[in-house]
Amino acid sequence: MTATIINGKTIADRVKEELRREIARLASAGARPGLAVILVGDDAASQVYVRNKQKACEDLGIHSEVHRLPENTPEEQLIDLIRLLNASEDIHGILVQKPLPGHINDKAVIDAIDVEKDVDAFHPISVGNLLIGDKGFLPCTPAGVMEMLKEIGVSVAGKRVAVIGRSNIVGKPMAALLLREHATVTICHSRTADLPGVTREADVIIAAVGKANLVGAEYVKPGAVVIDVGMNRLPDGKLAGDVDFEAVKEVASAITPVPGGVGRMTIAMLMKNTVEAAANALAKRSNG
Ligand code: NAD
Repeated sequence: MTATIINGKTIADRVKEELRREIARLASAGARPGLAVILVGDDAASQVYVRNKQKACEDLGIHSEVHRLPENTPEEQLIDLIRLLNASEDIHGILVQKPLPGHINDKAVIDAIDVEKDVDAFHPISVGNLLIGDKGFLPCTPAGVMEMLKEIGVSVAGKRVAVIGRSNIVGKPMAALLLREHATVTICHSRTADLPGVTREADVIIAAVGKANLVGAEYVKPGAVVIDVGMNRLPDGKLAGDVDFEAVKEVASAITPVPGGVGRMTIAMLMKNTVEAAANALAKRSNG
C-alpha cells in the first residue's frame, strides 16, 4: 500500500478562501482584523516564522504589525507593549514569538495578553476553556491538524489516536481537542515504555516530538493515518519531520509531508483566530 499524501497547502488555501469571505463581511461593517506580532531578539528561525505570518496577513488583507525588540529588552518593557496592544482598537490578535530570551519569564508574558486577543491560545484561561469545552480560541497547530483530518474525511470518534509529545503548545492541547471529538487518546512522551508497541495500536498517529525521522514503519499499524507535526532542521539545511516519510508511506493509508503539511495549517488557523477575534470585537461593539 502507498499512502495518500495529505496536501497541507490545498487544505490551508481552502480555509483561507472561507476567511476571505468573512473578512469581506467585516469590511462591509467597517472592521479590519489586525494582528500584532512581537519578536524579541534575532533568532533566525523566528525571523522566518514571523515573515511567513506577515505574508499570510498581507495575502488576506489583514492589518499586521511586527514589533521588533532587542534581545536585552527588560520583561517590564515587553509587558508594557502588550498592555498598549491590549488597549488598541486596531489590534485583535497578539502573538509573542517564542523562544523568548532567558531573562524573560514566558508565563508572565502570556498572562499579560488579553484573553480576547490570545490568538495563539496559550493563556491559562484559553487552555482551561479548551479543556472544559467552553468557547475560546483553539491553539493553531492542533486546530490545524483537526481541520486536516476533517478535510480528508477521517472522523476520530471512537478511534484510537496516539499523540507523541506532551508539550503545552502541541501535544497536550492536541490530546484535549481529540478527546473533544470522542477519540480514545494515548499521550506518549520521552518516558513512554515500548513506544512503537503503543503507537502500533493506533488508528491515527500524531507525531510532535522534534526528533527527525523518529517514527519508522515499525511504529505504524497498516492503514493508519499519520500526521507529522515535527519540523527539524537537518545538518544539510533541509527540513525533516518526526516521521520517516519514505518508510511510513508504504504502511500508512494517509500521511502528511514535511514541508507542505501541518506547517501551512498552523498559519491558516492563526489567521482564522485573528479574524474571529475581530468578529467578536465587532459584535461586542454593536451590542454595547
Ligand atoms: P517540545 O520539545 O516542547 O516537546 C517535545 C515532546 O516530545 C516532549 O513532550 C517529549 O516528552 C517528547 N519526546 C521527546 N523525545 C521523545 C522520544 N524519543 N519519544 C517519545 N517522545 C519524545 O516540542 P514541541 O514544541 O511540542 O514541538 C514538537 C515538534 O513540532 C518540533 O519539531 C517543532 O518544531 C514542531 N512544531 C511544528 C509546528 C508546525 O506548525 N508544524 C508547530 C509547533 C511545533
